[in-house]
Amino acid sequence: MKVTEHLKNAKNILVSFEILPPLKGKTINSIYDHLDPLMEFKPSFINVTYHRAEHTFKKKADGTFDKVEVRKRPGTVGICAAIMNHYKVDAVPHLICGGFTKRETEDALIDLHFLGIDNVLVLRGDAARNETFFEAEPDGNQYALDLLKQVVDLNNGIYIEDDIRNGFRTDFCMGVAGYPEKHFEAPNLATDLRYLKAKVDAGAEYVVTQMFFDNAKYFDYVKCCRAAGINVPIIPGLKPISSKKQVGLIPRTFHVDIPADLSNEIIKCKTDADVELVGIEWLTQQSRELKKSGVPVLHYYTLGKSRMIYEVVKQL
Ligand code: FAD
Repeated sequence: MKVTEHLKNAKNILVSFEILPPLKGKTINSIYDHLDPLMEFKPSFINVTYHRAEHTFKKKADGTFDKVEVRKRPGTVGICAAIMNHYKVDAVPHLICGGFTKRETEDALIDLHFLGIDNVLVLRGDAARNETFFEAEPDGNQYALDLLKQVVDLNNGIYIEDDIRNGFRTDFCMGVAGYPEKHFEAPNLATDLRYLKAKVDAGAEYVVTQMFFDNAKYFDYVKCCRAAGINVPIIPGLKPISSKKQVGLIPRTFHVDIPADLSNEIIKCKTDADVELVGIEWLTQQSRELKKSGVPVLHYYTLGKSRMIYEVVKQL
């Protein structure tokens, strides 16, 4: 079922989770172990992130280096199929521009359609580690908007090969990303919102936000989106802080602020176990306030922290 249908049929606030594929070498059981406890909360859908391949250099016996392409977390499509089969819950694969030609994207979409997957979260992806700026593949998509248009084309039966006549039409429901604290490359929020509106005008049916730790930022963002004519559901993305290290790492990686009240509490903690308790309490309060405000879904980035998410959702 499409995410939008879940939203339309909802009688109460919904909950959804986002997971990462396991590192190469681990089995699907690591995903089940992670998700099993969370199934108690009957998630409406589960997102599975996509991770592009990276280039690394491997030293050879003669001292020279080989450039090799490594994907540390393969398996997004397979995991989505496994989740749908194992839990009978809708899976939402993330689809990225980075590392894909348009033809490879088209083939991936056909695979997803054959597997009965109705949803995609359409993203650009970040720059590869060795690049300063994002670079699309030759004949790849540059922006999430371009990728979205490709999905829309396939939904209309338009394939890259223009000799395909009467090709089947897919029917993907498309979500996109939004940034309450602005995407880090955007010169200002107004410009970022103009591009977000372009994605919605092109067919995106809902927005999932980057994590935020101050609900006021989400509420302001929703107001700005509405003022900019963006009227689709805006699903808050939520993550618990689980270690002292993250106080510096999260702002650097995700370009979001940690409010002083939260960072002060974390700095006082002696161990990461203490930080987890603070993180659970903070996220529970955030979730309660968002729930009261009438958000459609609480979307949790579980990222290996299912126990913390369990503690939060249980209290709601
Ligand atoms: P876009 O919408 O393309 O925007 C990228 C930047 O370009 C923004 O600054 C925007 O303002 C600007 N822009 C947009 N259109 C134009 C245009 N036409 N001209 C000029 N500038 C433009 N990354 C992964 O690799 N895998 C994942 O699974 C993944 N999941 C994510 C899930 C969520 C909910 C979120 C919020 C992010 C996720 N990311 C993921 C990270 C995401 O790929 C990065 O944040 C990326 O830098 C931007 O992606 P986007 O889809 O927002 O890009």
